[in-house]
Amino acid sequence: MLVANRGEIAVRIISTLKKLSINSVAVYSDDDADSMHCRVADEARPLGYGSLKDTYLNIQKIIDVALDAGADAIHPGYGFLSENADFAEACKANNLIFVGPDAEAMRLMGDKIRARQFAIDNDIPVVWGLVGSLEEIEAQAAALPYPVLIKASAGGGGKGMHIVEDASQLHSSLVQASREAERYFGNGQIFIEQYIRNPRHIEVQVLADHHGNVIHLYERECSVQRRYQKIIEESPSPTLTEERRLAICETAVDLCKKMNYNNAGTVEFIVDENQNFYFLEMNTRIQVEHPVTEQRTGIDIVEEQIRIARGKVMGYTQDSIVANGHAIECRIYAEDPENNFMPAPADITLYHEPKMRGVRIDSSIDRPTSISDSYDPMISKLICHGKTRESAIEITRNALKDYIVQTDKTNIPYLRSIIDNDDFINNKIDTSYCEKHQDELMRSMLNMRDDVKKEDVVALFLFYDFNKKYLENKAIDNVWEEVGYWRYNMNVDVEVLSQRTTDNRQQSSVFHVQIERITRKSLHCTINGQDYEVLLSQNGGKINKVIINGMTESIFVSETSDNNYCVHLKGLDFICRRTDELNDSRDYSYKEDKNNDLEYRSPMPGKVIKVNVKEGDDVKEGDVLCVVEAMKMENNIKAMTAAKVAKVFVGEGDKVDVKNILIELSL
Ligand code: ADP
Repeated sequence: MLVANRGEIAVRIISTLKKLSINSVAVYSDDDADSMHCRVADEARPLGYGSLKDTYLNIQKIIDVALDAGADAIHPGYGFLSENADFAEACKANNLIFVGPDAEAMRLMGDKIRARQFAIDNDIPVVWGLVGSLEEIEAQAAALPYPVLIKASAGGGGKGMHIVEDASQLHSSLVQASREAERYFGNGQIFIEQYIRNPRHIEVQVLADHHGNVIHLYERECSVQRRYQKIIEESPSPTLTEERRLAICETAVDLCKKMNYNNAGTVEFIVDENQNFYFLEMNTRIQVEHPVTEQRTGIDIVEEQIRIARGKVMGYTQDSIVANGHAIECRIYAEDPENNFMPAPADITLYHEPKMRGVRIDSSIDRPTSISDSYDPMISKLICHGKTRESAIEITRNALKDYIVQTDKTNIPYLRSIIDNDDFINNKIDTSYCEKHQDELMRSMLNMRDDVKKEDVVALFLFYDFNKKYLENKAIDNVWEEVGYWRYNMNVDVEVLSQRTTDNRQQSSVFHVQIERITRKSLHCTINGQDYEVLLSQNGGKINKVIINGMTESIFVSETSDNNYCVHLKGLDFICRRTDELNDSRDYSYKEDKNNDLEYRSPMPGKVIKVNVKEGDDVKEGDVLCVVEAMKMENNIKAMTAAKVAKVFVGEGDKVDVKNILIELSL
């Protein structure tokens, strides 16, 4: 089977193919060659270079690749060609099974006006609406039940919708919406609907086979949206009464039966404050949020899709569906909630998924990589399943805190703020929740950051910074790193940058650190006058456990592309950098001239500011022989063994570089 998609959904589909012993063929555009979906597939085939039209949206190319690979079937995932009826037909014409419904069902439901009419004809409730040319709609301007919503017939992804509050705005909004519809969807046809205030978005997952069996897998509530796009979905809906739940699910099944639908699909409804529901649209494909249903029902929806596409009877009857507990999905995006959710494609320098019971992650990545600006910036989906909504929230809270995605911006802190927000917890949500709570959520993100002691961040950063080669198991190429930095009274300055504040300023604070002792396994220092002790308790490369002033913490540190460091603590990322250094040349390697126990060189070019010994002195291990100031940092040159001072080559004030021997000892 060829998977005509990329990212997390391609990975997700391939995992079911593996389970079913079906060979998988991934396809990729040039910039995706190293992507996870290519790595996990049995084979990966290129779609070449260029825009989406030349790659993931190129029907002919994908069909050719499928035939060339000897595929029998194509799974389109979501987005891209998944709701393209021409693609489904092209598959059929080439004897390839399209894992999805018939082209006719896709055409019907892909056109919001036709879908609406079909619903009306079949007694499925819809909100009041008006279809017609711009002139026909404008002729009714005075009589419309404001507020109304202008929608594009071919619309999707929440794009091109306009709320019109009164008749005076109608003309300009119609013109703009129609123009946008033409631009985004290649079809300027629009229509208007009554705008339901404070609605909820509730949808029903359905499965239908070619043998007349149609079942539902219950509903999902997706009212937490930003820009009409879902970011948190849950199942069951915490809103519906049992009676309404049954009614909405049966209505969805009814619609599918009336249209002879087959394969998986989602029937979307808008639900008003009195739990009246109205058909919005049907998505004729697997949806982003399908895992919440899978976690509750234990059903692999992709497996059922394949079974149905093969013409088999689906594996379940309505009576056999048992939904357990509560599941919540959070969509993890590389985007900036503080800047109108602007996509923030960038390098991911550290990626670590939370490991705990009840957590499923459908991810597009499994290692540091970069998020391309050519595609949707969704990184992954976190799905948490608990016995009750309360426990699912609790698991989500903990998992978000342990989810480390070090990059420029992610929405993880924003999602954490929602999960902690009383109105979310108490299900006081409607589709404008994010908008209404914007200030509150921004404040809570700021408070979360304020609550983290930056001194802890600084101590963790320094411990890592000095020991990173050891921690990351890299070749250690100088004796200082070999023995650890046994130096005393080193003064360093560390700047901690906080993320942008609500008024869009980047805040930073500088911490003065006096390091008393650093070894591979410990750091003793004072930060702004307060004592800090960091002890390594578990060495795991970029992810280490340490005990900081008696409290165990994990440290996750990565180097950013601009040579700063990103430190993760208590679920948040902080950018740190040494400001006592001129640049990043703090690599104490002087490869040709290795130090040994008896010859001491400077770790870097600098100036001798103190010589503590003279020829003939006896020294013991750890004694400071001399002090070299380099990069605005005092470096204590210490005896690594008990010995006698054989020769002192330098005096105070001498400039030295890494080649100069400073002091020689003899045994
Ligand atoms: P798209 O296909 O672009 O996703 P939908 O019709 O599915 O558009 O609607 C997306 C979202 O827009 C819904 O989840 C809801 O938040 C909002 N919406 C759509 N129709 C209405 C309406 N009539 N009244 C209020 N909100 C609506």
